[in-house]
Amino acid sequence: MVSIDQLFEEVRNLLSVNCPMVFHLLVRIFTQATKQVDTAAMSVHNGRIELLYNEEFLAKLTKAERSFVLVHEVMHLMLHHCTLRTSHDRARHYIENVAMDLAINTLIREDDYIKLPRAKEDSEFAKKDEITALVPEQFGFPPMLSYEQYLDLLEQKFPPKKIAFVFKDKDGNIIGGADGDPEDADIVVEIDPNCDLGKITYGKISPKHGEQYSEDPFVDDFIRNEIENITRNKLWGNTPGDVVENILKAQIQPLDWGDILHLELGHFISFDKIPSRRRWNKHFGKPFLGVTTKSVEPVGVYVDTSGSVGNADLSRFIVEIERIAHYTTVLMWSFDTQIYDPEEAIVFSRRDISSIEFKGRGGTCFKPIFEHAKKHEIHKVVVLTDGYADEIPASDVEGMEVIWAITPGGNLEGKAGTVIEMKR
Ligand SMILES: [Zn+2]
Repeated sequence: MVSIDQLFEEVRNLLSVNCPMVFHLLVRIFTQATKQVDTAAMSVHNGRIELLYNEEFLAKLTKAERSFVLVHEVMHLMLHHCTLRTSHDRARHYIENVAMDLAINTLIREDDYIKLPRAKEDSEFAKKDEITALVPEQFGFPPMLSYEQYLDLLEQKFPPKKIAFVFKDKDGNIIGGADGDPEDADIVVEIDPNCDLGKITYGKISPKHGEQYSEDPFVDDFIRNEIENITRNKLWGNTPGDVVENILKAQIQPLDWGDILHLELGHFISFDKIPSRRRWNKHFGKPFLGVTTKSVEPVGVYVDTSGSVGNADLSRFIVEIERIAHYTTVLMWSFDTQIYDPEEAIVFSRRDISSIEFKGRGGTCFKPIFEHAKKHEIHKVVVLTDGYADEIPASDVEGMEVIWAITPGGNLEGKAGTVIEMKR
């Protein structure tokens, strides 16, 4: 007989190889067996993240199903669901939780090691082998949408007024259904399996789903940071590109342009990792070799001095550049129709900023930037400009990562790379 701890460990080891990004987060949070939850749940409380799990529930699952459950819970964290502000209205709150699960489960691809949980026997609500988790197909919704998109679709299809609930005591007896909050903590409020939404969702989502979540900016920051680390350390493994894209999108929701620029620049701070014989890998342990940081690639910043980039735009932009200058070499040039002092590598410092002259002559040309970057083997390029000049197709920036910081009201079109519009 294998103990539940061993089973848990097995799954974690499996994930370290098969799903390194999930493992990366899983080893950074607390785990606790508890009867408080009937399945598994991520708990966020005062900056502490804890995975709560019910041993009996996990023991009934196959190993591949347990992997699914762990991936599912970690994804709630990665997509910031555990820290979302949710509604106090019971029906709306329920729909929000359904939308979260749809947004997650559509991202998890089944393979030999990860399988959606299935009913082990026939029951009133699920036939044997029927999937007991929520997936978009059950609703006739398209796959790969975001939480917000599923929420919209659910609200259209299931008006909150038509969603019904039943109240049960701790022995599972139905007690008079009522509105308002039940005083007794033992009372479980479940979706009514006879209402339209309940017909699809009953038994596929815990009535307590999302109960342990709370708004927490510290945890939000922690997650963003860890996602950056996953990207930097190339821990996405075999995660499909569109899945990675959805996870990255969930990181930039409520941010202003400065935050977006900051986040994008974060990807620029690349450390070349080389195997080290001096220590074991800090994520995977023995027998994987650790890595040491070898070198840091410089970032080339090109500031358009021709016209509408003003000092106010520049100073906000500089704050962000300064932040990455702590970690990596930032080289800076000014340009309009040409690069000024192209052979002089000016290492970024606040003092040098004041030497940038805004000539205001008009006339801008982007092509020289990328020729200059190519010649000097700069692969990470940031351009601050109003965006009005020649188009730059992807072929011009091959092998480079490019961020365009476009001043308010500027031209966002025709630019290969990431385009960020600055707003006032
Ligand atoms: Zn869930």
